[in-house]
Amino acid sequence: MDVAIVTVGDEILAGDTRNTNAERLARRLNERGASVVRMLTIPDDAALIAEYVADWSAQFDAVVVGGGLGGTHDDVTMDAVARAFDRELVLGPEVRQDLLESMAAYEAVDLADLDPADVDLDFEAWGATPEGARPLLNPEGLCPGCVLENVYVLPGPPAEFESMFETVAAEFGGDAVSESLETTAPEASLTDTLGAFREAFDLVVGSYPSSEGNNRLKVTGTDPEEVREGVDWLRERVATPEAGPKPDAAE
Ligand code: ATP
Repeated sequence: MDVAIVTVGDEILAGDTRNTNAERLARRLNERGASVVRMLTIPDDAALIAEYVADWSAQFDAVVVGGGLGGTHDDVTMDAVARAFDRELVLGPEVRQDLLESMAAYEAVDLADLDPADVDLDFEAWGATPEGARPLLNPEGLCPGCVLENVYVLPGPPAEFESMFETVAAEFGGDAVSESLETTAPEASLTDTLGAFREAFDLVVGSYPSSEGNNRLKVTGTDPEEVREGVDWLRERVATPEAGPKPDAAE
């Protein structure tokens, strides 16, 4: 399953907030066997968000959009996603009820004692989702997310983003498997070995140098046995922390 991640937020582009949502989501998707094929950070710009959502929804199996939900002026994501699919925004009854429950909890009053007319909240602005979308209630906060066709819209605050993703995590999967191997060899010395690997196996191999210690070789494919064979093949040819240096790396 090929998944694209779109992060919305000027604060990420300004360097004020680290994009931990995309980092953690990519890890979770990979754990589930899905492949993350794009990761984009984009300003709070409805036209731009709508353009990417429409384009990538047609191109990939799923798109996850995070951030920019709610009723403040820079929260344009829900509107943009509705626009991408030419839908109206509507407030679903279960979302309205969930907003009421959140407000009762926030004001520390019994739900039964809360008159909706007295609640100081623009329900449409904070809770509307595109018509025909499946709303995702927020386990940690106020704003709902939603699923519209293959587009998943999640709130920005990390606790909300992560807990809401877990409510739909089972919908993401795939057969990608990876194994990594540490090597003490410098990356520049691995060119021939990695070239030979790529001729011998129909697998993807990534080489990730580290300034802190050993470099990492990561082998990815769809057949766990083939991935294992590939890693074993490398282990016989590159210097590892356990076995020490290899005399002729390319053989
Ligand atoms: P809210 O309605 O609470 O504002 P939102 O969906 O509009 O939710 P944002 O305004 O985009 O979310 O972000 C709220 C906060 O969440 C940001 O100030 C930032 O601290 C954090 N945040 C947003 N996006 C990310 C991200 N990609 N990674 C980590 N933290 C993020």
